[in-house]
Amino acid sequence: MTTAHTPEPILQVHQLTKTFAGFQALNGVDFSVNEGEVVVVIGPSGSGKSTLVRCVHQLETIDGGSVYLDGELLGYEHHRSGVRPLTPRAVAAQRRRIGMVFQQFNLFPHWTILENVTRPHRMSHGVGAAEAEQRARLLLKQVGLEHKADAHPRELSGGQQQRVAIARALAPAPRIMLFDEPTSALDPELVDEVLAVLRDVARSGVTMVVVTHEMEFARQMGDRVVFMDAGRVVEQGTAEQIFNHPKSDRLKAFLSRFR
Ligand code: ADP
Ligand code: MG
Repeated sequence: MTTAHTPEPILQVHQLTKTFAGFQALNGVDFSVNEGEVVVVIGPSGSGKSTLVRCVHQLETIDGGSVYLDGELLGYEHHRSGVRPLTPRAVAAQRRRIGMVFQQFNLFPHWTILENVTRPHRMSHGVGAAEAEQRARLLLKQVGLEHKADAHPRELSGGQQQRVAIARALAPAPRIMLFDEPTSALDPELVDEVLAVLRDVARSGVTMVVVTHEMEFARQMGDRVVFMDAGRVVEQGTAEQIFNHPKSDRLKAFLSRFR
């Protein structure tokens, strides 16, 4: 007998709402990511893209809805009278299963490149020095920076620093990687080297959510593209559907700015 196999999404966001001082940044977002998938999130500035990934990584508390990682509710636990917030310790444990890369790479200036990758991994995951270093050297090689292991961040270009930040986030082998406009702070000539690393990470099978304005990347690498506007997912589909057959006027207007 064969069994129909529907894989459970790694990430499931259900009716997520988030308000900042009365302003509704997320207005009922449904969003899911399957294992090995690359989901690209596009949309105008202020549409809630960063808020969405920040809520998933529990950098923001949520006002309504729920987020599940591998079927586990994030931030809350069920108990007799409904749900209650998890302890900070339990939240930290959940957050360790998610890797995040920001627009600003935020490397520690006084640590070497190698230390920037090993130390957070050791501190948050309790990994031994030898294992952390072995893993870091492998990842620095993957992002093309093994020769910079002993350098300090100031000696690296912005593109190289962002590649280190990607290695740092990958070190604990997170279940999912979230990238929030990873190339937006870079000089234009440094964007491609970072996108090349993102492609390489995607091809290695890592599950990723990438918020970006790099439409060529979205078209090439997005297994699914999600278009957000005004705190909602307005349209989502394959890159072909979103870029070649947009349905909503809002998506059409958004895309016309890139042509
Ligand atoms: P995007 O990443 O798509 O540009 P954001 O998620 O950063 O959009 O922001 C969505 C909306 O929420 C914006 O209007 C923004 O000004 C507002 N917002 C985001 N973070 C905060 C905050 N910490 N305090 C107040 N308003 C915020
Ligand atoms: Mg943003």
